Amino acid sequence: ASPPAREAVRIIEQLRRSGFVAVLAGGCVRDALLGRTPKDFDVATDATPDSVREVFGKRNTLAFGASFGVIGVLPPRRSQDDSSGSAAVLREPTEVATFRADGNYSDGRRPDSVTFGDAQADALRRDFTINGMFYDPLAGKVLDYVGGLQDLREKHLRTIGDAVRRFDEDKLRMLRAVRFVTTLDLTMQPQTLAAIQEHAGTIGVVSGERIGAEMQRVVAHHFGHRGLKWLVTSGLHRFVWPGAETMDWERLQTRYARMDLLTFETGMATSLLTLHDSIAAATEDLRRLGNNWKLSTAHLRAIQTAVSTAEQLVDCETMPWSRLQPLLIDRDISTTLNVAKAIADPETKAGVDRAEHELGRTDRPLDPPPLVTGNDLIQRGITPGPHFREWLSHLRQAQLDGEISTFDEAIQWINRQDS
Ligand code: ATP
Ligand code: MG
Repeated sequence: ASPPAREAVRIIEQLRRSGFVAVLAGGCVRDALLGRTPKDFDVATDATPDSVREVFGKRNTLAFGASFGVIGVLPPRRSQDDSSGSAAVLREPTEVATFRADGNYSDGRRPDSVTFGDAQADALRRDFTINGMFYDPLAGKVLDYVGGLQDLREKHLRTIGDAVRRFDEDKLRMLRAVRFVTTLDLTMQPQTLAAIQEHAGTIGVVSGERIGAEMQRVVAHHFGHRGLKWLVTSGLHRFVWPGAETMDWERLQTRYARMDLLTFETGMATSLLTLHDSIAAATEDLRRLGNNWKLSTAHLRAIQTAVSTAEQLVDCETMPWSRLQPLLIDRDISTTLNVAKAIADPETKAGVDRAEHELGRTDRPLDPPPLVTGNDLIQRGITPGPHFREWLSHLRQAQLDGEISTFDEAIQWINRQDS
């Protein structure tokens, strides 16, 4: 077992020794049953948050979401961590949540109150059957109160209880549904899908940032093309990504498959270029989505660069080096190159091949220092003016294209302009 899994088992054993019920819960049980590596291991217990803090000691716990019954338990401090002056070993907390039942939902996102309960009640307040299982690592047994095992076998996503009511309680669950069917390659049970189709319009109560976080996982996934299709099938796109329904799905799927590296940025840029027939329209859509989803400037910049320059890489086979080089030294070039691979047809990918070849060359620097600088010109008595920039950029181009290769040649050229 991985270190986080062992740490969760350690916590469970200690809670048991103190007389409590404790099991693994939710996503980690689902992922382990699917043979996937869980992102994190959450523990559920009948110990109250106060009892959890008592069992492990206040110093080793963090009151994460104490009102929701979630305590973070830190791994034991190893003796050498205390004495050595070296950087403290990062102690990652494990989430330990008290079994609970959720009260009323009035804001469409979070329960107004929670009451502590038992394992079965805790299973019933979870969103989907595949997320509602527990695992007892000491007995090696799955505790399934919601039919999650069968749905997992049949690859079905189904809400626990009445779909309409569950999406009414928390609108974010609709987008989580799209994320789970995408990333786990499931189908949606008809009532679950129908309920989303009916309630899609209420997704607006969820913050743009939260929507953006889910969309990042959908778009960056291997099945991202299907994720966007689920978005349209469920009707959520009208409120999350208006216009997405006109996507050429087969084309998007083919393009997704061509990328070496699938990230949110490469997935987004490829989707935008597939959805729109002009760079301007793709850019406009990106601006709108970026605002709604509260995308970071780093994300926006990488996607924007790929949207505006990937086509140039596709067409760069005979481009002068002085035009290609500035594209290749951009900090987001790996995103752009992957998007170029996605949108290039296999027969016409000579441009992409060239870009990749140039990037991999070791026989000359990709970005050599300029032969002359503005200072060099001033020192030679040339007065700064509007022609200055023009000259320097002409010299840079001539240098890159091999027309001028020494400082003296550059100065001679300048003197000819200046006379
Ligand atoms: P991942 O960690 O890969 O995102 P996950 O299923 O673990 O997937 P989390 O957001 O970590 O998702 O939530 C842990 C568990 O808490 C879920 O498996 C589910 O049982 C429950 N849960 C999370 N969000 C909700 C929600 N909005 N409504 C009901 N239950 C939820
Ligand atoms: Mg999780």
